[in-house]
Amino acid sequence: MSSVTRFAPSPNGLLHVGHALSAIIAHDTARRNGGRFLLRIEDIDLERRRPEFVTAIFEDLNWLGLNWEEPVLVQSEHFSDYLAAADRLIAMGLLYPCFATRKEIAEAADPAKMDPDGVPLYSGIWRGASAEAVGQRMAAGENPALRLNMDGALQALKTKRGSKPLTFIEVDDDGGQKTVTADPQLWGDAVIVRKEVPASYHLSVVVDDARQGVTHVTRGQDLLAATDLQRLLQELLDLPEPVYSHHRVIRWSNGRKLSKSNQDMGLRALRDEGATADDIRRVIFD
Ligand code: GLU
Repeated sequence: MSSVTRFAPSPNGLLHVGHALSAIIAHDTARRNGGRFLLRIEDIDLERRRPEFVTAIFEDLNWLGLNWEEPVLVQSEHFSDYLAAADRLIAMGLLYPCFATRKEIAEAADPAKMDPDGVPLYSGIWRGASAEAVGQRMAAGENPALRLNMDGALQALKTKRGSKPLTFIEVDDDGGQKTVTADPQLWGDAVIVRKEVPASYHLSVVVDDARQGVTHVTRGQDLLAATDLQRLLQELLDLPEPVYSHHRVIRWSNGRKLSKSNQDMGLRALRDEGATADDIRRVIFD
């Protein structure tokens, strides 16, 4: 069956060999079965994104010999669509404003409870806050984040689907499929619309995977837990369910993850040192 795959980098650093692995797997999967390979620039983090990193993404992917369909979707051009999706969740009574600072959240959190990103799990400080308390902060010009009421969301899911469990299909390298149970509760009342930008990673990803007709999401194992929350959002928003492949994450031999900010195994640096695209394929697939 032909698939629509995508590579969705955030332009807040230079790509490294880990990104090359994601991009090549997505590209080759589509090419193998006569599908389509898309590129999406996930630049909703307006503080960290840089135009030169967008240019570098195009250059590095070209150098790797990958080609993608035009036009490339640039998320910062679509904030109104993410807000429209958030509005649907608001209409379902599933989002609530939260003015808590990172410090307040950390102080109120149970130190033993972290979300899958390793961030203290939000304890619900603003869940159930009065309209008056919210109004006061709004009147003072403060902008809230919008959080998902996880209990409410799971209840809404149950109303929609009965006892059918929330799952996703994970496809392995040989095409074998297994059904994985999603556990969105691990994320607690996750941020769906950030304070600083009218979107969040999880919301924009599900809106765009659906908009672009992505049938097969390929990305690193480090985003496996994100799938649990994204599946929940897809169900609540009536979006189609893609299949997933979470590939291994390339690490240093001491287990440390590659980092964009440290320029670890950067594609541009390797190219400047004389590496070829074939060398990169050899390094990541051997
Ligand atoms: N933009 C995300 C990143 O660069 C990847 C999102 C995804 O593949 O779902 O880590």
